Amino acid sequence: MSRRAVVIGAGLAGMLAAAVLSTAGVDEVIVLDRDELPEGPEHRRGLPQGRHAHLLMAGGMDAMEELVPGVSLRKRLLAAGAHEISLSSGMLALTPEGWLRRWKREGPVMLTCSRALVDWAVRTAVLEQTSVEVRRATAVGLTGSARGVTGVRIAAPGGDTDIEADLVVDASGRGTRVVTWLDGLGVSGVRERTVDSGLVNATRVFRIPDGAERFPLTIVQADPFVSRPGRSAMVMPIEGDRWMVSCGGTRGGEPPADPEGFLRYTLDLPDPIVGRLISGAEPLTDVHLSRSTSNVRRYLEKAPRWPERFVVLGDALGTFNPAYGQGMSVAAFGAQVLGRELARGGPTAPGLARRVLRGAARSVDAAWSMAVGQDVLYPEVRGGRPSVADRVVTAYTRRMMKAATGSYAAACAIWDVTSMRTPPTRMFRPSAVLAAVAGSPLPPSTEPPLTPRERELLRGLDRTGA
Ligand SMILES: Cc1cc2nc3c(=O)[nH]c(=O)nc-3n(C[C@H](O)[C@H](O)[C@H](O)COP(=O)(O)OP(=O)(O)OC[C@H]3O[C@@H](n4cnc5c(N)ncnc54)[C@H](O)[C@@H]3O)c2cc1C
Repeated sequence: MSRRAVVIGAGLAGMLAAAVLSTAGVDEVIVLDRDELPEGPEHRRGLPQGRHAHLLMAGGMDAMEELVPGVSLRKRLLAAGAHEISLSSGMLALTPEGWLRRWKREGPVMLTCSRALVDWAVRTAVLEQTSVEVRRATAVGLTGSARGVTGVRIAAPGGDTDIEADLVVDASGRGTRVVTWLDGLGVSGVRERTVDSGLVNATRVFRIPDGAERFPLTIVQADPFVSRPGRSAMVMPIEGDRWMVSCGGTRGGEPPADPEGFLRYTLDLPDPIVGRLISGAEPLTDVHLSRSTSNVRRYLEKAPRWPERFVVLGDALGTFNPAYGQGMSVAAFGAQVLGRELARGGPTAPGLARRVLRGAARSVDAAWSMAVGQDVLYPEVRGGRPSVADRVVTAYTRRMMKAATGSYAAACAIWDVTSMRTPPTRMFRPSAVLAAVAGSPLPPSTEPPLTPRERELLRGLDRTGA
């Protein structure tokens, strides 16, 4: 019998789920998106977050490589101008505990490029390698009952129409209407939680000044431990010899949208390095703001009843403060769980939907704990207060971060978790605990760990007179 799956949303979670479905015995995979999808790596309305910096962690990259058959996505991204940044040597990072040392030894990597490039690379690879079909359509509901979903309702000029499906995946992102759609089927009682630090992201793209093409990714992190609004900034290289510069500020410390205010914001941080780097650089865009940054968790896997044949993945299941760079990787991990469950019993196996939700929720929860555990410490956060457990974990993480300013073992533990190759429990392995307890063997550095050439370059780029 011929099987059809319908995926709502052609973002990352949707296209990766479609790739998995097409190689797992589903004859027809249709992906619906309300957006006109661009031919090239261009920004689009349906992905407003694409204007902002997106770090693709190694764990997420590995998962994507596994999910999309027949090509190396990593190589494609690098060929299109993405940068591979070593967390151990290719980054200048000022943490709340001081500057992280740069090591000669290689550590995990992350990829930096525009979000539009990641989406385009994934979408084109999936469409080349599989028979997945993408259709422009807006989903407005589900068909079926509380026992099982039978298809998707889409908006059409003459009235809504239905597409039947043996399996439906909601990958419609942060703005999903899934709770309302479930309500329409008679499934209620889904618990939701929002923790909102009021974070605003402000991003502007610059041309990389001549000679600075290999300057390290530079980040001044927010400090959640001082009872003041968090304020941060990052200079990240992207394709096309450009720097994407993103500032982030929690409630009371929001970055402004005017160019002078944007520069001033970067200069007023605990270290002015970001402002000094961009002070003479040529801007290529306006400053774009995003306020869609709260942590939202829909505990769908815990709903008292769940309809068969309906799976939810990616941001639709949970979203996190973007400062931790986790969402794209979590979307890929969810698609991997779908792949494993499909391999076990095929697309119509009883209980598949619930098992996928439970499996996907595990990586959502890990990312949630990391983001929310720190966000609850900011003043005027809404929807959460630090629990005793949060305070204990935070105190330990802080100690580990302090040790990481000079200890390779502590730095390794932090890179492994940040790169999402290992779960956060890595921080509690004996070697990591010993490193945290021993602390840094070196005094903290008050200056960014620049090479003489980089220091010279920074001086040449600086138009602030600092
Ligand atoms: C400011 C900001 C910065 C971020 N930085 C990072 C980062 O550094 N690293 C990282 O890993 N993650 C980051 N993220 C998170 C990342 O953007 C998301 O986790 C990721 O996009 C989730 O993918 P998704 O496919 O679930 O949703 P999306 O990528 O949002 O895709 C949803 C798709 O569904 C479509 N759609 C929506 N509704 C409908 C409908 N009713 N019918 C049909 N189609 C529909 C949309 O058009 C869109 O194409 C950031 C997020 C923000 C807001």
